[in-house]
Amino acid sequence: MSDIIQLLPDHVANQIAAGEVVQRPASVAKELLENSIDADATHIKLIIKEAGKTLIQVIDNGKGMSATDARLSFERHATSKIAKAEDLFLLETKGFRGEALASIAAIAHVEMKTKQEAQEIGTLLKIEGSKVTEQEVVTTPTGTSIAVKNLFYNIPARRNFLKSTSIETRHILDEFQRVALAHPNIGFSMYHNENELYNLKASNLRQRIVSLFGKKTNEKLVPINEETDIVTIQGFVAKPEFAKKKRGEQFFFVNSRFIKSAYLNHAVASAFDELLSPGYFPTYFLYLTVPPGSIDINIHPTKTEIKFDNEKALYAILRSTVKHGLGQFNVAPVLDFNKDSSMETPYTFTETTTPKTPNITVDPTFNPFKSDPSTSYPKQTYTPKPTANWESLYVDLEPSSTEFESSPTEIISVISDEKEAQIPLLQEETSSSKTYQLHNKYIISNIKSGLVVIHQHLAHQRILYEEYLENSTIKEAMSQQLLFPLSLSFIPSDIALIQEMKADLESTGFGFETIADETVIVKGIPTTISESQVSIILEQLLEDIKNEIPDASFSQVDILAKSMAKSMSIKTGTTLDVKEQEEIVNKLFSCKDPNSSPYGKTTFITMSIDEIDKKFNS
Ligand code: ADP
Ligand code: MG
Repeated sequence: MSDIIQLLPDHVANQIAAGEVVQRPASVAKELLENSIDADATHIKLIIKEAGKTLIQVIDNGKGMSATDARLSFERHATSKIAKAEDLFLLETKGFRGEALASIAAIAHVEMKTKQEAQEIGTLLKIEGSKVTEQEVVTTPTGTSIAVKNLFYNIPARRNFLKSTSIETRHILDEFQRVALAHPNIGFSMYHNENELYNLKASNLRQRIVSLFGKKTNEKLVPINEETDIVTIQGFVAKPEFAKKKRGEQFFFVNSRFIKSAYLNHAVASAFDELLSPGYFPTYFLYLTVPPGSIDINIHPTKTEIKFDNEKALYAILRSTVKHGLGQFNVAPVLDFNKDSSMETPYTFTETTTPKTPNITVDPTFNPFKSDPSTSYPKQTYTPKPTANWESLYVDLEPSSTEFESSPTEIISVISDEKEAQIPLLQEETSSSKTYQLHNKYIISNIKSGLVVIHQHLAHQRILYEEYLENSTIKEAMSQQLLFPLSLSFIPSDIALIQEMKADLESTGFGFETIADETVIVKGIPTTISESQVSIILEQLLEDIKNEIPDASFSQVDILAKSMAKSMSIKTGTTLDVKEQEEIVNKLFSCKDPNSSPYGKTTFITMSIDEIDKKFNS
């Protein structure tokens, strides 16, 4: 039998490697930024077009490359950073695998201009899908400019897999922020579609944090400093009163490299222990310096996890250092024994996205008009949409039904207004006994076969979600003009997101005077919300956009509707009067999909008389 094993051609091997190194435009931005840092640049400029789908360019004033090095830099396993295996344990640079440029060049159009200080004239190199198409001399400043165009042009599946502009931009901004935070002594600027998003001067860490996260951050920061044999810890934590209900700004850097560590995060959180209410997360920017040999650096290029030799000691030192830092700033614990954690709204992003259909047992022989001929039918104004299977709860209500056994007057009333006829099945007796609120959390209502228990918060989310969707897609949303426009401040990256969502927000009733720099001026708001809620809604929306794991059917409007529904819905712990309870019940069952919340949680359960009977008889 003949031999069948072959070595893969370079361009194929590079494409395979690219699959690992380059997951999305943000990966390219990260690799290029890190190369510029490794090249000792003091100023680095990142230019993005269409979330990096058309252009990702990094221009630095670093040491540049000779013509030969420029050519070699695109070869796989070509690196200036390690020469022998031992070097791996003493790494001070970001890169070392020599894979990034080769990978990027395999799946994009790349143009590099580079010049070393001592050279008069630089090198221009164009590469498409691993092939050099042009090499020339060029006049260019000292340093390197690498422009990556048409990412994934030769892997359509990958290109199609890219998420919306706002999501990809968000990922790039995250990488930019991490790199900029890791190197406050380097100047960075960032442009997206010709707009300057950041212009960060070389500065100290405090100034860098403030210029990234807004002027108001300054007063929140508590300095943290500790030097021990195994680790030096520096940085800031935010005072507990500024803790957020989201895991927003939590940054660990180890030897100037951004890392994620649930273990270390736990150490910091536990230092805050009694200072934070449940559900709140501390903000921190912590920089750990450890001997390069004490961490396992040989990690996957795109992973941010790291392995420490002295994990346990590190945990203890970190925890006590943060505690000490907080103590020095007189941030004493406030114990609140009355705090009722059940009142906290269960806002987590762990909610499942697959809607579950509750089991509904239906009695097919049920005749609603048999129940109580004396029932009075209150007039209601909602319009039921007979689509979902919940309807079977209330069975066939066709007025043509031959099973009517009620008095002639009732039949007339049913026939004269078909819609009214469906309500009494939900509610019987007088208004005071139709619904009942349990623990300010559930609404209990009679149905023909027994009772229904509705989760008020989740049900209201569903109702609002459908209302917002309908407003933004079908109806023209109502907007109320504000007498005094509201001025809200945001960090530049959030401003960019709001700018992108502008049209969608307007379709729900928002009106904007300006969206620029660090300020949004709101002049109109949806009639369904109040002025005081605007900033909460926008904050929540930004958070949701950042956290949304988009699927194929991902749409901005949908995220917006979900987010607004979540912010605006009646919370667990809210007392509702009978009218409000009834409104929730009625509106829920006129939703297109009343069975689940927009995040896929069950909104109601039913319990039949049979089930209840069984409990008594068994
Ligand atoms: P690595 O960073 O792992 O060495 P890369 O593929 O990212 O691998 O880069 C290959 C080599 O190209 C680097 O080792 C470096 O010598 C050179 N290089 C890349 N980018 C720059 C830059 N901006 N300035 C100077 N040299 C660079
Ligand atoms: Mg590199």
